[in-house]
Amino acid sequence: MSYKAEYIWIDGTEPTARLRSKTRILADGAELPDWSFDGSSTNQAPGGNSDCILKPVFTCPDPIRGGDNKLVLCEVFLVDGTPHESNTRAKLRPVAERYAAQESWYGIEQEYTFFKDGRPLGFPERGFPAPQGFYYCGVGADEVFGRDIVEAHMDACLAAGLKISGINAEVMPGQWEFQIGPAGPVEVADHMWVARWLLYRIAEDYGVSATLDPKPVAGDWNGAGAHTNFSTKAMRESYDAIITACEALAEKAEEHVAGYGADIERRLTGMHETSAWSEFSYGVADRSASVRIPWQAEIDKRGYIEDRRPNANVDPYVVTRLITSTCCAALEKAGQV
Ligand code: ADP
Ligand code: MN
Ligand code: MN
Ligand code: MN
Repeated sequence: MSYKAEYIWIDGTEPTARLRSKTRILADGAELPDWSFDGSSTNQAPGGNSDCILKPVFTCPDPIRGGDNKLVLCEVFLVDGTPHESNTRAKLRPVAERYAAQESWYGIEQEYTFFKDGRPLGFPERGFPAPQGFYYCGVGADEVFGRDIVEAHMDACLAAGLKISGINAEVMPGQWEFQIGPAGPVEVADHMWVARWLLYRIAEDYGVSATLDPKPVAGDWNGAGAHTNFSTKAMRESYDAIITACEALAEKAEEHVAGYGADIERRLTGMHETSAWSEFSYGVADRSASVRIPWQAEIDKRGYIEDRRPNANVDPYVVTRLITSTCCAALEKAGQV
C-alpha cells in the first residue's frame, strides 16, 4: 500500500505570500523525502534556474483524505542548501531558540472573510446588508453565513491535531475567526499556516473562497485582523514583566507595524475597534489600544497581553519573531526572566 503526502509551502508572492501544495505518492512507511518545485511559477526563482527545494518541517494526519495520508508543511530552500529569501520560518528559528528558556506562548486569532460571486457571503447582489451590530457571535439564518464550512474546518483542524482553541462569527456578515494556541512561536505559526490551508481547501468544496484581506469592504465595515496574544513564563507570574513587554513594544512600534501585514494602514484607522497604525498605546481592557492588557491580567497581576495590530494577512512567522525578539530581549535586559 502507498499513501498520499500533500506537500504544502509558502510562496514568494509580494507583498503577501500565498500557499501552494502538491501531492506525492509514497510507499507505505516511507520517510518523507525532500522534493523540488518550479520556483519560476511561484515568484521564487528565475525561469533559467527554476528549481527550489521543499524540506518537510511539520507533519500531521490529512483530515480530508483520511487514512494514512499526511499533510506536510515545508520550508523552501535553494539548491545550494541555504534557506530561500522568502523562508521566514528559517529567520524565526534562531530567535525562538535564543529565547527558548523564557517559554513564550502565543495565541493567534485569525479573522477571515468568505467570498462568493465577488462579494462577502451574506451580502445581497446589490447594495449592502443591514449595518453591523447583530452579526458578531450571532445565530440564525439572517445573521450567520457559512457556518457549515466553519464547522467542517474546525473538525478538520482537530482531526489533524492542530492546536485550534475556538471559533466565532465576526462583526461583518461572512466574516469569521478561529484561534490557534497557546503554543510556542514556531509551533503556533506552523499550525496557523496548515489551518489556513485547510480553510481554503475545505471552502473550495463549497464553491466559496476565504480571504485574509485586512479590509475586505471599504467604509463602515470592520477589517480583519490577527490579534496576537503573548506571554512568557515571567509574564505569567508577574505584572512588572507584562509592563516591561508593553514598554518594549512601544519602543519598536514602527518596526512591528511594518511587519504586521500589507495594507495595515487601511485597517488600523483608529475606528472599528482599532488603534491608529501611526500611534502606539497600551491599556487595560482597552480594545481601541494597540496592545490590550486583559482585565483578568490586571486583577491577577499576571497573565498575557494582546497585540491587536497584526493584520489578518500577517505572516505568523514574522509576528512571533518580532514579538519574541523585542519582548524577550527587554525582559532579559531588565533581569525579569
Ligand atoms: P478575544 O477576547 O480577544 O477575542 P480570544 O478568546 O479570541 O480573545 O483569543 C485569545 C487567545 O489567547 C487564544 O488563542 C488563547 O489560546 C490565547 N491565550 C490564552 N492565554 C494565553 C497566554 N497566557 N499566553 C498566550 N496566549 C494565551
Ligand atoms: Mn477573538
Ligand atoms: Mn475577532
Ligand atoms: Mn482579540
